[in-house]
Amino acid sequence: MRPPVLDPLFAPLTSLKGIGPKLVKPFGKLLDRAEPRVIDLLFHLPYAAIDRRARPKLSEVQADTIATVKVEVDRHIPGRGRAPFKVIASDDTNTVEIVYFNIPRDRIETMLPVGETRYLSGHIGLYDGRLQMVHPDRVLDEKGLADLPEVEPVHSLTEGLGAGIVRRAATGAVARLAELPEWQDAAFVAAREFPSFTAALRLLHGPAEPSDVAPESRLRARLAYDELLAHQLALVLMRSEMKREAGRNNSGDGRLRAKIEAALPFQLTNSQRKALDEIGHDLADETRMLRLLQGDVGSGKTVVALLAAAAAIEAGRQAAIMAPTEILARQHYARIAPLADAAGIRYAILTGRERGPARDKLLEELAAGGIDLLIGTHAIFQVGVEFRDLGFAVVDEQHRFGVHQRLALAAKGDAVDFLVMTATPIPRTLVLTYFGDMDVSELREKPAGRSPIDTRTVSLDRLDEVVDAVGRAVADGARAYWICPLIEESELVDLAAAEDRFRYLKERFGKKVGLVHGRMRATERDEAMADFASGKTPVLVSTTVVEVGVDVPEATVMVIEQAERFGLAQLHQLRGRVGRGRDQSTCLLLYKAPLGETARRRLAKMRETDDGFEIAEEDLALRGEGEVLGTRQSGLPGFRIARPELHRDLLETARKDAALIASRDPALETERGRALRLLLHLFDRDEAVRLIDAG
Ligand code: ADP
Ligand code: MG
Repeated sequence: MRPPVLDPLFAPLTSLKGIGPKLVKPFGKLLDRAEPRVIDLLFHLPYAAIDRRARPKLSEVQADTIATVKVEVDRHIPGRGRAPFKVIASDDTNTVEIVYFNIPRDRIETMLPVGETRYLSGHIGLYDGRLQMVHPDRVLDEKGLADLPEVEPVHSLTEGLGAGIVRRAATGAVARLAELPEWQDAAFVAAREFPSFTAALRLLHGPAEPSDVAPESRLRARLAYDELLAHQLALVLMRSEMKREAGRNNSGDGRLRAKIEAALPFQLTNSQRKALDEIGHDLADETRMLRLLQGDVGSGKTVVALLAAAAAIEAGRQAAIMAPTEILARQHYARIAPLADAAGIRYAILTGRERGPARDKLLEELAAGGIDLLIGTHAIFQVGVEFRDLGFAVVDEQHRFGVHQRLALAAKGDAVDFLVMTATPIPRTLVLTYFGDMDVSELREKPAGRSPIDTRTVSLDRLDEVVDAVGRAVADGARAYWICPLIEESELVDLAAAEDRFRYLKERFGKKVGLVHGRMRATERDEAMADFASGKTPVLVSTTVVEVGVDVPEATVMVIEQAERFGLAQLHQLRGRVGRGRDQSTCLLLYKAPLGETARRRLAKMRETDDGFEIAEEDLALRGEGEVLGTRQSGLPGFRIARPELHRDLLETARKDAALIASRDPALETERGRALRLLLHLFDRDEAVRLIDAG
């Protein structure tokens, strides 16, 4: 039912030249989709562009700029011990020293043979009065130079994917683009001087000027508006669909809830009780519930979801809890099992792993009403999964925010009441953007028994004291994470920094230090994580490329180096890795003085609070002040292009635009309506199209 004009964009990424099956996994990780498609890569926009147009003679080079220079290779100076490998090269005006860390000698010798002419492109600095290039971005011969883009887009990367592969793939993807009918209001497009959707994508991946990819670029704004409108339109269409059908009373007499509460090893917090009251009210009410439950990781959402589900089960309905990943679904299942047993609730799990006869039997029971509560992944809304009477659904979106899932699940029941859970606190001002017209409950209180994390900021000058402190903690049986930042532009140099830190700590702690980074094989990494979890290596040095997502409750120390280079949301997330057990945890934010004003405010906020909501508000405020951070914390979670600090005005416009469209052309049948259907498909909001066609 997707219009065929879009087929080339929805083809698997492997349909592009040069993308074999082996690259599916790394691209999948980069694009956050198991089976990445051409469109996913097109929406992976460059976050910067390098201007390589400067072609000076060495004598004309301005230090600390990017330049492309033509040189002859004079000689090689292999490094002794841990010293870097150096190559001396020159033109007829001056000499430049090229420096490599941790690169095999034969690779350098092949790249830069003595006596040959080469073009070097990259950052040139001055060191001891001499021109120096550390790891030039490019080393090219005459032929290679011909292919060097003058303005080179820079995409964020992930392990196993070099810049070249991503760029070439993006070029291939752009070639698939055809002009599409305009779905935006013509007057609006003209007033904003927006290019077409296709033109914007073309120019972003092949910029003519670095400003084309700048955060405030009009090209980016155009696509951000498209994304925001697709989202708002899907929300509005879903909302009107939900209003079309009357709700039912989906709340029973409390008998199951009482049993579950009696089996809990703790008292509910006040905010859990308040949220449950709000949910209970919605369930009993004969309008359909659409409520958001927000709370940091660990705030106790699962038990709220279970008690709400129990209310619906008391009323004779079935309930479903859907998690975004297999791991999370299994975690919910494990936590819920003993409580559901205590209450006599019949429950089951359904993910992609359940197959064959066991799955068939489960589906049969589900359809017959023999299962009260189904926990699972998106496998729940596949064809063939039929409930006898689904009345209540929980969608745990974590960081994903897919209206898509909600829409698909809505189709499985009759006037289903919805609870959406998210672990990313979102500033109130943005809730509307994400969730549209939804009611909100928040869990702001931490469950009792957890001591707050002691957060301190420490200048890097005091590294020795930090190492001492970590030493004392480890001697007392603690586990410590040591995070080194990794910035994409020069992965190798940064990796070298992490390895250096590893060696440095090894001198002090010997075998007790482990290392994980993105260049390791997955098995090595799992092993390193397991050693940390078991306490064999109680200090773990890690680059941020690696998600230290494994839950290690014994970890009580978090050291973050160059904390000033991280965004608030990311610092909050990293810090959340500790403070999970009963023991006092510490977070040390190491920074390199002097700190800029926003960095200072960010770190101060981290010291002041560990309330995710407060941190989210400050994050937004700081970004609003024009703070430009690295690529990792850009954007709204769940949105690929739109960014709240840049596109706030577009947000409000998109909301109004969507409401207007929904009232004038609810079935999307006009000419613009038909084009808007394309837009919904492009941004994966096609469930909304199905909904209006069915309704
Ligand atoms: P979330 O889903 O919000 O990340 P969980 O529901 O997984 O959080 O809860 C985290 C931990 O806190 C679980 O071990 C849970 O049993 C526990 N917990 C939940 N509510 C309370 C409470 N009121 N008091 C003490 N512990 C609680
Ligand atoms: Mg949870």
